[in-house]
Amino acid sequence: ATPVSIMVGTGKGATLGVLIKNAEALEIMEKVDTLVVDKTGTLTEGRPKLISVQTAPGFREGDVLRFAASLERASEHPLAEAIVRGAEEQGILLSSTDQFASITGKGVTGSIKGHKVALGNIKLFDELSIDPGNLPDMAEIGRGNGQTVMFVAIDDKAAGIIGVADPIKASTAQAIQDLHDEGVRVVMLTGDNRTTAMAVAGKLGIDQVEAEVLPDQKAEIVKKLQAEGHIVAMAGDGINDAPALAQSHVGIAMGTGTDVAMESAGITLVKGDLRGIVQARRLSRGTMRNIR
Ligand code: ADP
Ligand code: MG
Repeated sequence: ATPVSIMVGTGKGATLGVLIKNAEALEIMEKVDTLVVDKTGTLTEGRPKLISVQTAPGFREGDVLRFAASLERASEHPLAEAIVRGAEEQGILLSSTDQFASITGKGVTGSIKGHKVALGNIKLFDELSIDPGNLPDMAEIGRGNGQTVMFVAIDDKAAGIIGVADPIKASTAQAIQDLHDEGVRVVMLTGDNRTTAMAVAGKLGIDQVEAEVLPDQKAEIVKKLQAEGHIVAMAGDGINDAPALAQSHVGIAMGTGTDVAMESAGITLVKGDLRGIVQARRLSRGTMRNIR
């Protein structure tokens, strides 16, 4: 495309809240046939809310939430914020944490008032050799409703589960429908549990789901789709997503997400509205038409 048509395209994009960083991103958008999209913070608002706490026999709900929230005060994960906020809303007093550790894609651990506390998914329990007992069964109901359910262990014993719900953005359903109308396949990628992922994907008519993906596997999945001959756009918001954004033909970051994601992407959707992807494709077609 000519420099002038690129300028026109990026200028129109800017007025629509679609920031296009370079000519390459604008040129390739119309050729994209596969959109890989992160769940949390991209399809969803990324601001989960505490829904429920359930305990294993011998543990009290208030204790499980207090230990979990005390631990999460040291974490910056959106799930952590939901748990801390939920506990505070219930007037629970939090304690300080020693030996805090965060294990990417799995959860967090620490020591609170001399008790060992672990909070995260089944991979975390596996890594710490903690028997989850019937926590996975307890988790299924909330997950079937699209909740993210985390496991809590106190002194290496399965103590309870915490369910949070992250609302799907109001604009997401329309964006996916518009992409489908243009023949773009949508693949959802998430570190979250498979049942939760399938529930969210089902509501949106997502074509393919890759769940329980560790952060460093996200770029690999993009690479695999590219090797199959697809032109892949990747949309994400987190630090986790940066390598996959960089690997894809066009990276699309949420303006509501982390700076690292935006630095790794060719396009930023200022308000995180995924309908901007379809608008970017229209701008791309318009720009490329000018030069043919
Ligand atoms: P996503 O790819 O959906 O943004 P992440 O890779 O950040 O998700 O996290 C994947 C999973 O790891 C979460 O669904 C959760 O089970 C667990 N996890 C990660 N960080 C935390 C945390 N601070 N507290 C509890 N669980 C966590
Ligand atoms: Mg995310």
